[in-house]
Amino acid sequence: MNRNETYLKIRATRKLPTPSRVALEVMHLCHGNEAGIDEIADIIQTDPALSAELLKYVNTGISSPSPVLSIRKAAVKVGMKSLVNLALGFSLLSHNKEGRCSVFDYGKFWSSSLARAISAKNIANACSSYNGDELFTCGLLADIGQLAFATVFPDQYGDLLAKNEGKQTCQADELKVFGITCAELTTELLIDWGFPEDFAIACGIHYQNLDNSELHDEILYIARLLQLANNIADICQHICPQPAKLTQVEEKSEQFGITYDAFSAIFDLIVTELKQCGEKFQIPVKPSLFYQEIKRHAFIGEDSDCNQANPLRILVADDDPITILNFVKLFSARGHEVLTAENGEEALRLCHEAEPHLLITDWRMPKLSGIELCKTLRNNPVTQHIYIIMVTAVEDDDEIVQAFDSGADDYVVKPFTPKILEARIHGGERVIRYQKALQRDREIIQRYAEQLTSANHRLQAMAMTDALTGLPNRRYAMERMNEAVKEAVRHKEPLSCIMMDIDAFKAINDNYGHHTGDIVLKEIAAILLHAAREYDTICRMGGEEFLIISSRNTAETTRIFAERLRGDIEKHSMIMDDHTINITASFGVAQWQNDYDRSEQLVRQADRAMYRAKQTGKNRVEVI
Ligand code: GH3
Ligand code: MG
Ligand code: MG
Repeated sequence: MNRNETYLKIRATRKLPTPSRVALEVMHLCHGNEAGIDEIADIIQTDPALSAELLKYVNTGISSPSPVLSIRKAAVKVGMKSLVNLALGFSLLSHNKEGRCSVFDYGKFWSSSLARAISAKNIANACSSYNGDELFTCGLLADIGQLAFATVFPDQYGDLLAKNEGKQTCQADELKVFGITCAELTTELLIDWGFPEDFAIACGIHYQNLDNSELHDEILYIARLLQLANNIADICQHICPQPAKLTQVEEKSEQFGITYDAFSAIFDLIVTELKQCGEKFQIPVKPSLFYQEIKRHAFIGEDSDCNQANPLRILVADDDPITILNFVKLFSARGHEVLTAENGEEALRLCHEAEPHLLITDWRMPKLSGIELCKTLRNNPVTQHIYIIMVTAVEDDDEIVQAFDSGADDYVVKPFTPKILEARIHGGERVIRYQKALQRDREIIQRYAEQLTSANHRLQAMAMTDALTGLPNRRYAMERMNEAVKEAVRHKEPLSCIMMDIDAFKAINDNYGHHTGDIVLKEIAAILLHAAREYDTICRMGGEEFLIISSRNTAETTRIFAERLRGDIEKHSMIMDDHTINITASFGVAQWQNDYDRSEQLVRQADRAMYRAKQTGKNRVEVI
């Protein structure tokens, strides 16, 4: 059964979430192009709840200085197309705040959807030609397939969710159980409800990797915008998101042409609107911080919530099973991940394999003592940053000094109370957190350095490339010519070049316009590239002049080649709109002579030959 048939089968159950009667009627009228804005407003007014939701929406945000009190005015403000989609979104929202699937978190679904919707709206308003209100509905309904699964298959979908601990289910499971993926169902539903097709498809693919997608640019643009909106929504819901997520979202925004400062301002606007909207639509949204605060928390990790969210990986090395058990109990209760080792050697291995943040090691252990372990770890760059607490049997000054000398950061004396140990670990945590922040900073700097290098490479390539034809430009040509001369002299090989200039090109511009002139230049470049041989380099010198550097060829073989190019161009007819343009070009050929002392001389000679070709009737090849 194909996807559409599966969808129709699901639809036939009549259990799918459906927009209200009024919303459907409005959509029907609007897509039939039969109704004007007044008529649509009149119909919406017959549904007081929907009218109220729409008015709440248009009166949310900083962009509404004076309140809008009538649906007609709201329609004028957001535009008819957006109004219809908003009606669809809000009617679904108000009728599906709860449902039968006990594992599906309806509140979280709508709060995430609302955060994505507000993000999408604000990004669109800031940087795209799309209407923010249209993108709002897109964001609101981009995961509607999830709600549909929860509504039609509450038990089976609940089982799937439970299997994934409430997280998003995987596509393979969805296909196996329902015959259609959640993303596909989203697209089918939206198309069925008369949503613009580009938007419906973009909603369905917005979780995918879009790098090599062949869908058309507009769909990809919307899908990418939704991805960014999703990332922002994600950050809004976490007090302390991972720094990598912040960097990623800043980079993505930059791709939309949003500078860092603008992004920070847009983010804060989203947070403000989300709070307002959550209250108005009675959707439980988590209070979110403004961007700079979130960033501070993420990078320095000062918030106590962050510690909960960032448990430590602690390795306990002790040959006494009872001690190990006590440690495991204590640390697990605090939410840390605990690893154990019965001797020094095993501890060393685990330090490499599991990279713990903190090591608590006994002094006396079989195979490798705590002191030896410390020294070994400190001498290896991979393990030297691990925070080490040494457990000693007696509080003997010499022994403590020895522990510190071997590289321990702290010590506890056996027997110890959990309170003391916890306090010491707390101190260690602070150091570890700063170390982590430092490491993250280093990674960010490294990433920026890499971006800078690649931007420099790109700039370098741009500086050497002619933007219109994509051919190497004059600057590159002259550098390449220098090298070619050196190679030719070193290997005692011939070197020639061709200077080519299109005949009467100005007339093409004058008769058909500059744009047509540009197309002609591109086509000529393509003809030259197509004909090029192994040792030829083709460059655009500027205007309608091209240089072909022909290594390992004499003037005679190069003349024959130029003759072939001349013929290719002459034969090629360009059909533009309703007229055919025939082009010819003149060619000058020169070969490097041993008494030349600069590569420019060779180019000048080819230029002279070309000039002669012009003077003797054009559409010719001349050799100097
Ligand atoms: P000739 O046969 O003697 O070479 O005459 P011509 O008309 O080809 O040469 P001329 O030097 O008089 O004119 C060249 C024209 O090429 C003038 C300039 O506006 C145009 N041109 C230069 N660069 C570009 C370009 O990038 N795009 C377009 N469309 N025209 C260009
Ligand atoms: Mg010309
Ligand atoms: Mg010219």
